[in-house]
Amino acid sequence: EDETSKDKTYKVGIDVTYPPFEYKDGDTYKGIDIDLIKAIAKDQDFKIQFEAMDFSGIIPALQANQLDVAIAGMSITPERKKVVTFSDPYFEAGLILVVKEDDNNIKSVDDLKGEKVAVKKGTTGAKYATDNADKLGITVTQFNDSPAMFQEVKNGNAAALIEDYPVISYANKQQNLGLKLVGDRLNGDNYGIAVLKGENEELMKKINKGLANLKESGEYDKIVDTYLK
Ligand code: GLN
Repeated sequence: EDETSKDKTYKVGIDVTYPPFEYKDGDTYKGIDIDLIKAIAKDQDFKIQFEAMDFSGIIPALQANQLDVAIAGMSITPERKKVVTFSDPYFEAGLILVVKEDDNNIKSVDDLKGEKVAVKKGTTGAKYATDNADKLGITVTQFNDSPAMFQEVKNGNAAALIEDYPVISYANKQQNLGLKLVGDRLNGDNYGIAVLKGENEELMKKINKGLANLKESGEYDKIVDTYLK
């Protein structure tokens, strides 16, 4: 099978509740990830179709061959690299702790003892919280998407949440969530576009080529500025 065949439409998994990277505006998908993969596909002459799903379903869907590609604000991690091949990094992110705006007690993860912390299933934030649960003395509650997790802290059902810095800073401003970011970033990471390891290798070469071309031409910056300026 010629996996780079021009007739093939590659299925691209997205996490559609994740502005400014991906979100639904009426019937259209928008965001940095959406525009980026569309521009890469155009530059490299391949066809794509989006498949929206919960973030935690994306890697399993790649493994089940229900998806060819994933672009979902997905952080490049050593664990995931065992299963997927990532593109060159395309955005710097990292985790941050988030509490209610009027919370004056929690200033860093060291103030979380005895508290409930909301995270999103399958994310680096969920991994950070579960890995450090004993050390920090927290109870972790997991949600399927970011809006549900934000709501939990807004409602006061959880004292804090952990989210990607660029996502929560954008959402907090745009949606007036009444939350605030506290402490230093908990880690540093980069987003990458993923395919299943050992598959779609030709496609991944095109993705990296397209990404490099967009960075070179200034189109990458234009896309980012559309959402973050
Ligand atoms: N960057 C985080 C991760 O890779 C969160 C991604 C997301 O929620 N879409 O786990």
